[in-house]
Amino acid sequence: MQTKEVRVGNVSIGGGHPIVVQTMCNTHTSDIEASVSQCRRLAAVGAGLIRLTVPTLADVRALAEIKSRLRAEGLEVPLVADVHFSSDIAIAAAEVVEKVRINPGNFHKDFDMACSQFSRLVKVCREHGTAIRIGLNHGSLGERITTLYGNTPLAMKEAAMEWLGLCVENDFHDVVVSLKASNTLVMVEAYRLLARDMEEKGMSFPLHLGVTEAGNGDSGRIKSAVGISALLSEGIGDTVRVSLTEDPENEIPVARYLADRYGHKLHSSMIRLNMEGKKAIATYESPSRERLMLDMACDFGKMLLDRKIDDVEVRGRYYAGNGQEIVLDGTEEAAYFSDELLQAARRRFYKPEYIACPGCGRTMYNLEETFEEVKRRTSHLKGMVIAVMGCIVNGPGEMADADWGYVGEGGHKVTIYRKKTPVLKHIPEKEAIDRLLELIEKDGK
Ligand code: SF4
Repeated sequence: MQTKEVRVGNVSIGGGHPIVVQTMCNTHTSDIEASVSQCRRLAAVGAGLIRLTVPTLADVRALAEIKSRLRAEGLEVPLVADVHFSSDIAIAAAEVVEKVRINPGNFHKDFDMACSQFSRLVKVCREHGTAIRIGLNHGSLGERITTLYGNTPLAMKEAAMEWLGLCVENDFHDVVVSLKASNTLVMVEAYRLLARDMEEKGMSFPLHLGVTEAGNGDSGRIKSAVGISALLSEGIGDTVRVSLTEDPENEIPVARYLADRYGHKLHSSMIRLNMEGKKAIATYESPSRERLMLDMACDFGKMLLDRKIDDVEVRGRYYAGNGQEIVLDGTEEAAYFSDELLQAARRRFYKPEYIACPGCGRTMYNLEETFEEVKRRTSHLKGMVIAVMGCIVNGPGEMADADWGYVGEGGHKVTIYRKKTPVLKHIPEKEAIDRLLELIEKDGK
């Protein structure tokens, strides 16, 4: 898909430029030292854009200071303000950084007010050369859109088109758009619908791809690669963020792999492919375990999502960090890779489905540790959907179709959700995982 170029500081997105790799800080933006230091590390490992959360006007001021310290050090990496629930903060942030991400689902409660605030935002962006990301998420489309279209990929596409229409009406074109979901099928379908509709209507806004709340570890990497690669292989996507509930530095190599593979700088390590009906038998010779997982996800994710194949068997070998050769043929690890891949493409569920946000400056507890503990204690709940979310502001809206959710409130307190309903509020962090497990048990699981 041929998109137009959008300049974000010294970086070009779209217009045939290489796919831009980006990430987001998980520091508190108000902690200027920690944020500057994380930005430095992220820039050093290759982040092309860095986003920071901006929950308050005080954070806009902190962001200005972070930017000025980075520029004083000669670090020109463009910064993006991530704004939810306050159009005024978005407008203030647009004076400070190179790009502002807004979520149409929570830009303003009232749609008419949203339109007039958006015109104000566009004016400031035009004056300051700031780009905008229209960043929609499956879990937070807002009542108006879900009433019209349900909570569907079509709803995501329609919401995006409505806001892109506002951009065109305001004659503002420095816009990138994203339609993220944790469910890879929903995410891929939404972007495909949008790409088709934009093309039909003569629009060519660049697309930012991501599988949101993908979790961590192998599952987070495979799920992200399945969703993002399916689209990049069709020529859809200009910039990528791989969201992991880990140190954001870990996101960069995965995103880099995807950008390089679809920028034709690297190839799969698969050396042979045999088909037995709709089962693919793939033999790899991979330089590392991570590379093997990403290759598998890219080689077969799209075919699984589109039901072109039903199963994948992995054979061959990869080399561990110490150079040791690990043979896969018929091993438990090979079966595990197939299980992970099929679950990421939502074709076979062998364990619970986890939705976990990557965390950001709104997270007030140790998200990574808590998520690991929740995973450890719920691993038997095959097919259930369990969410672990960093904050009460966005978490409940973003956890989409979770059966139960653990949502940090701040102040060492947690709210436990059953579906979309908060059933246990203000639970001390120390007890919260026990209480979540008790609730799941009480619900007969
Ligand atoms: S849900 Fe997670 S990533 Fe999203 S705003 Fe809250 S803490 Fe940040």
